[in-house]
Amino acid sequence: MKLFDLHEDIGYWHSRGFDFVSGQGPTSLEKLSSLGDVAVVAMIFPATGRGRYDLTLNVLLSQLKYFLSLEREGKVKIVRSAGDLDRPGVKLIIGLEGTDALSDAYDLLWLFNAGLRVIAPTWNYNTKFAASCTSKKDYGLTDQGEELVRLANELGVVIDVSHSSRQTTLDVASISKRPVIATHSNAMALKQHYRNLDDEEIEGIVRTGGVIGVTSIPGTLPSDDVKGIASVANYIGERFGWDHVALGTDFLGLDRYPQGFSDLANVSDLASLLGVHADGVLWGNALRVFRSALPH
Ligand SMILES: [Zn+2]
Repeated sequence: MKLFDLHEDIGYWHSRGFDFVSGQGPTSLEKLSSLGDVAVVAMIFPATGRGRYDLTLNVLLSQLKYFLSLEREGKVKIVRSAGDLDRPGVKLIIGLEGTDALSDAYDLLWLFNAGLRVIAPTWNYNTKFAASCTSKKDYGLTDQGEELVRLANELGVVIDVSHSSRQTTLDVASISKRPVIATHSNAMALKQHYRNLDDEEIEGIVRTGGVIGVTSIPGTLPSDDVKGIASVANYIGERFGWDHVALGTDFLGLDRYPQGFSDLANVSDLASLLGVHADGVLWGNALRVFRSALPH
């Protein structure tokens, strides 16, 4: 089975003292390796303890170092260019969930050199670059945020609008010259939730040629079970085109799970529900986006 998972808080999992390599969590490197050809957007998620989000440069660097050390030990391939996606085994695409530790857009230059290829302008807090999904005054992208998007486009870093506000998402989609993604977001039309995307946001992402990673975050689904995930995929697929549906499990970032979707093994149950669309959702669509967006 091939799997492209757009969102795993691997850095966060490791920073909490859990074993990603061979541990008993919902996913692990061993479990991923057993699937075969796998690409995962491995997030630097800078919470240092349950519920505490504190994106300091130190936390960012230590999670980044962890990913690079996995590569150094020969356990994973870090994807830096489009061609790296064709390498066998487990491939990690390093992402950053939130920009609170950046002093300005130019920090993206050294982050890119260190291997970063996905950046989310915000987590649940507003930043100097953009308003977040919890913003009371949705100011969208700031001037600095626009600069961040332009620089990301030039370098080949993909923008992730999950956790962004509505206006931020629309702004990113309208100025980005490359496909935009939501690594882990569901549909507002099926469940009212501040983390979900409304139809206009989905349309904006689709216009860039991007993908939406449907996700397992309980409370964002029409029903908190594997069928709920399939129905979000179905909604986006039928209404906006199946080429724009992907999966971002978020297995390592959650403390509760939808029924029947709490372990990597359950992805095959989701595949059964997706039927003929499974290959695109679980692999091909996200692959297409990264092939075109990453440096060549
Ligand atoms: Zn998240």
